[in-house]
Amino acid sequence: MKHSPQLARLIDALRTLPGVGPKTAQRMAFHLLQEGRAGARALSEALQASLDAVGRCKRCRMLTEGELCEICRAPQRDSSLVCVVESPADVVAVEQSGSFRGRYFVLMGHLSPLDGIGPEQLGVRELEGILDEGSVRELILATNPTVEGEATAHFLSDLAVKRGIRASRIAHGVPIGGELEYVDGGTLAHALSGRHSFG
Ligand SMILES: [Zn+2]
Repeated sequence: MKHSPQLARLIDALRTLPGVGPKTAQRMAFHLLQEGRAGARALSEALQASLDAVGRCKRCRMLTEGELCEICRAPQRDSSLVCVVESPADVVAVEQSGSFRGRYFVLMGHLSPLDGIGPEQLGVRELEGILDEGSVRELILATNPTVEGEATAHFLSDLAVKRGIRASRIAHGVPIGGELEYVDGGTLAHALSGRHSFG
């Protein structure tokens, strides 16, 4: 059986969500168009509004509705510590651990040459700009403990070390291959306090 054109389009669009295959997308579409119509309308409006309003922080690349995110604007945050993470969800995870008072830099991914993701796509030039300001004492590399995350951490540590800035890697209470956002706050706090220097 073939879906009507708009239904097929909706199912296709839902498949852009991570972990959603054709069957799940179809179930979601049917739900939204049957008993979930009020919610579907709210979802559609929220999606449109956030696409219009939410951009990236000019400084750290975190998602924000202003020029600068809340953390970059907060004067009480320690600007001598910069924690580099792969995604906005990682910022939320580290913040929830309550163990970090510095600032962040969000790569929005990791180095992945085969997918065409190099330093430029990760905002490395902007990060170098921050390091060159002279106020950063330590760059904490909290990329995921995956092969790509480790390679990214090593690449970025060199940028810090050659400027005489300490580079450290979070300790691995974080499970290998696990993603930072799924690690509980206590483990994350421990991983941050047990970080070790590169070189
Ligand atoms: Zn920011």
